[in-house]
Amino acid sequence: MRKPSLLMVCCALTLTLVGCNTSNQNEAEEADNKPAETETEQRTETPADVPKDTEDEVVEEAPAPEAEPPAEDKPAEDKPSEEPATDEPEGEEKPVAEAPPVEEPAQTPSEPLEQNGTANLKLDTLILVNKQIALPAGYKPNDLVTANIDFVDTASGERRMLRKEAAQAIEKLMAGAKTAGIDLKGTSAFRSYDYQVQLFNAYVAKDGKEQAMKYSAPPGHSEHQTGLAIDVSSASVGYQLTQSLEQTKEGKWLADNAHKYGFIVRYQRAYEAETGYMFEPWHLRYIGVEHATNVHKTNVPFERYLEQSMN
Ligand SMILES: [Zn+2]
Repeated sequence: MRKPSLLMVCCALTLTLVGCNTSNQNEAEEADNKPAETETEQRTETPADVPKDTEDEVVEEAPAPEAEPPAEDKPAEDKPSEEPATDEPEGEEKPVAEAPPVEEPAQTPSEPLEQNGTANLKLDTLILVNKQIALPAGYKPNDLVTANIDFVDTASGERRMLRKEAAQAIEKLMAGAKTAGIDLKGTSAFRSYDYQVQLFNAYVAKDGKEQAMKYSAPPGHSEHQTGLAIDVSSASVGYQLTQSLEQTKEGKWLADNAHKYGFIVRYQRAYEAETGYMFEPWHLRYIGVEHATNVHKTNVPFERYLEQSMN
């Protein structure tokens, strides 16, 4: 699917994007550097006290892991953070010695993003799933493999799986992190449609649908079902999925380096209004090195990046 002419168009568009979005980028950077005191940051005090989040089920690394029944997962109360933001200098910025090779030329998305609210599977690793666009019911990638990285104990079975290309990429990312002295583990990768049904129904039963919609993805709408998304966290935040990850050296390393391995931090604080999801410094979405680098540079939501790339 690589046509030189399309690639050239893509490149030209990318240049345009860079030019158009300088102010966005500054804005976003500003937001990113700001401690999260005004955000609805969800903090966890104990492993048992888990935060709500939008796209993600919360997984805790507990000394005595329970058997992960989604129906038991209880979202905790939102709690504003009283934690003073530590503005530690970013010392770990040196690039990873061995940058992953840029294998695949970026596909040019010449396909429609969706049809009648259903995601276009032909977009492959650029597939778009969000609040408005769902995967076909029951969709399951046929190239899922277990990612050979460290996971928290509560992640087991399919939840350690990603599509092959994404699995290889997260393995490289984790190796690069380790080289840079960054400790990260996967907490949750693939989630099946059925699993998301259980999870979402449990939330609805607990809080009602309207409330549940605000913090959980209905079945078919989770990026985790694409096999291209993974949540990661670090010991410094107890492997919780918490916005305070952003202020840790691990979170900063992710924000600065994930794109080199083909991942984007999909739900940025600056994108909240546009994506409908709160800031999730732990949620990585694989889109390939070239596109991830473009998204990182232009600093726009993935939705807008795709739309702009296609025009
Ligand atoms: Zn996630």
